Parts: sequence; C-alpha cells; structure tokens
Amino acid sequence: MARLIIMGPPGSGKGTQAEFLARHFAVPAISTGDLFRAHVRDGTALGTEAGRYMDHGEFVPDHVTTAMLRERLEADDAGAGFLLDGYPRTVAQIQALDDVLGSRNQAVEVVLALAVSDDELLERMLQRAREQGRSDDTAPVIQRRLELYREQTQPVIAAYTQRGILLRIDGSGDKDAITATAIAAVEEALGRPARGG
Ligand code: ADP
Repeated sequence: MARLIIMGPPGSGKGTQAEFLARHFAVPAISTGDLFRAHVRDGTALGTEAGRYMDHGEFVPDHVTTAMLRERLEADDAGAGFLLDGYPRTVAQIQALDDVLGSRNQAVEVVLALAVSDDELLERMLQRAREQGRSDDTAPVIQRRLELYREQTQPVIAAYTQRGILLRIDGSGDKDAITATAIAAVEEALGRPARGG
C-alpha cells in the first residue's frame, strides 16, 4: 500500500505508467481525466459541464473536480492507498487534497514527475490523436494544455519538491524501461527494498 501521485505534462505517458505502477503497488489508479471522460461518455450532468472545459484544454473548475475526487477517494478500495494521475494540477488543489487526506490522518508519500521534451510530447499526442481520436488532442488544444501545464502545474511540482517528496525521472524512451526505473525509484523513496519481477 502506498499513497502516490504521478505527474507529467500532457502526452508524457503518465496514464500508461500509472496503470503499471498501480498494479505493482496494489493500489487503484485514479485519473481525474478518465473519471471526467467516463462522465462525458455516460452523458451525466457533470460530464456535460466538464466536457465544455476539456474540449478547449481548459481546467474543469475546482469545485467540480475536487468534489468528484473526494468521492472517489472515499470508496473502499482507496482507503489505504492510491495512485493519483491528473490531480493536483493547481496549487489550490494541493491544499484541497491535503484537507481530504488530513481528515483521515493520511498524507501523500511520494510524487513522481515524468520529464519529457516538448518535441516528444507533441509528437506523442499527435500520434495518439490518430490512434484514439481523443477530442482534446488537436494542435490548438494541445498547445493550450501545455501552456496551462507550464503556468499552473509546474508550481505544483515546485511545491512538492520543497516538501521533499518529489522524484523526477526521465520519461522519454522505452516504456518498459521507464516503468522499471519508476518502480525502483518509488520503492527506494518509500524505504522499501527493491524487489525483482
Ligand atoms: P492530459 O494530462 O493529457 O492533459 P488528462 O486525462 O489528465 O489529460 O485530463 C484531461 C482534461 O481533464 C484536462 O485537460 C482538464 O480539462 C480535465 N482535468 C483533469 N484533471 C483535472 C484537474 N485536476 N483539474 C481540472 N481539470 C482537470
């Protein structure tokens, strides 16, 4: 069990890495983007509201996002541990998360940040657009998501760095190699011996 966050710019592969890491640490991977996309698919009121922002690459307002995340964290499977992907994305959301966890005497243990060059990000997202057709993977919307990441989410990385729980790893190159590096780094940060397999 562990309480982890994975961060990285859009296109950094954090969703893919989140799945592998969550399996390794036996915790649920909780992606706010995936939760929103499920609402959009199901045509819920929340999905209708969120979709208006997502289609333009804008952040969904905090009151919507944080309420949705709080509810997800209160589910039984997230009681002892979780891997958050896509939250917190703003400095205000750090506080909101601390409040939710603090109310059950918990705190985030490790924040993993994937670093990938802008050129590679753009290339990967355009590739994903061709393969999956995500409605926010168009050139202008990608630009806006990268811009918001730099303005709003980089400060989150800085805040966790200051807290002493940030691990930065190279997110470019082979997917499996990145997973192996990430797992080893997180295990070490958690003070656990490295395991094989
Ligand atoms: P990416 O990191 O590739 O941009 P995500 O799947 O994490 O994709 O998020 C997709 C969209 O969902 C974001 O562009 C934003 O509109 C919305 N979203 C996800 N998480 C949050 C959040 N924590 N706060 C506000 N909006 C969010």
